[in-house]
Amino acid sequence: MSSSPENIIGKGTWIDKIAYTIVEREKKLGRSTENIKVESGLGASGIPHIGSMGDAVRAYGISLALQNLGYSSELIAFSDDLDGLRKVPAGLPEWLENHICKPVSTIPDPYGDCHDSYGQHMSSLLLEGLDSAGIKYTFRSGTQTYKSGILTEQTHKILLNSKLIGDKIAESTGQQKYLKFLPYFPICEKCSRLYVANSIDYLENERAVTYSCTGNTIGKKLIQGCGHSGQVKIDRGNGKLAWKVEFAARWQAFDISPPSASAMNGIVNGMINGTYTPPSSQAGLSTLNFTNGNMASVWANMVTLWHLRTQNGPWDAQVPVYAGSDCTPSGAQSIIGYATVRINYVGTPGDALNAANCTGSNPSTGCMSGVVQCNVFEGGGGSGGGSFGTFGTIPGLVE
Ligand SMILES: [Zn+2]
Ligand SMILES: [Zn+2]
Repeated sequence: MSSSPENIIGKGTWIDKIAYTIVEREKKLGRSTENIKVESGLGASGIPHIGSMGDAVRAYGISLALQNLGYSSELIAFSDDLDGLRKVPAGLPEWLENHICKPVSTIPDPYGDCHDSYGQHMSSLLLEGLDSAGIKYTFRSGTQTYKSGILTEQTHKILLNSKLIGDKIAESTGQQKYLKFLPYFPICEKCSRLYVANSIDYLENERAVTYSCTGNTIGKKLIQGCGHSGQVKIDRGNGKLAWKVEFAARWQAFDISPPSASAMNGIVNGMINGTYTPPSSQAGLSTLNFTNGNMASVWANMVTLWHLRTQNGPWDAQVPVYAGSDCTPSGAQSIIGYATVRINYVGTPGDALNAANCTGSNPSTGCMSGVVQCNVFEGGGGSGGGSFGTFGTIPGLVE
């Protein structure tokens, strides 16, 4: 062996080398290395096999190697449950033929009523595998991600640049398809199918894609469309990006962790003008990542938001409740449920009313006070009545 110790990265495996390359790249691009996210897609269109498990295991290995290099890292397990069913897998009932091209999250569970849908059954098989292997991950459902608008900005940007993207795909892979079609699959409003509805145009101002359900060749088989023409909005899960561009959209959308005051101001402004959609979360599965930072410059905007929200009555904000009783947590905390908090007061730093409104707070800093509306706590965990802290964060302000 000729390698000298200083050339060994981490534990010296290829996984360590990839982790090292990622860190170097993020630094070079001037991006935050605070929480480096690694993602693995969970196919939900068929029964998971060893290859599906292998993909998640490799991704988790990189996440562990990043942690080993001293970085905080998180594995996102993304279920492709908005994908359409392209063919009926061997051994599954024939009636599934009637659901070809429908999103797998809208198809009934062929195994009975153990899950809400075909897609949920398939992805839960893989999640069980990850759980039994002790792999830690944050779960994201494709359907929920699109429905809650998390990918809207990225989808908009991609559709505005579809020509450039089509050229790049043709140049790098030889695939000509996106020179002609938008990299977006609308779900036909009439027959509820993807892939058979071909996108035509992107209407920038309406943020909608026009389409015609004229059919397509899927796996060498011609599948007829229903003939309907219409348009779908891009912000509510009525369609999805093609796989080749969706990756990029997911990378960007999931990588937004806003520990900075400017990112926080962006969110508060979005809440003021109604363009912000909080990320989806699920009790028992999602985590909330706490970081420290100075948000002095956010208070003026927060006061504006408070005045706006209280114009016609009280401002009730739904907030996540996390496990544990630490009032100043740090890092990822598991969300165990949701509570509604009535925000009663918001004051900028130095406001004379702060002392009276925010008990125990330093009046020279900004303050915000609210009351938990006990009757509306919705739990998704925390069994056994163990202690848990109730702390409000406006949905989306701490992610
Ligand atoms: Zn099931
Ligand atoms: Zn149709």
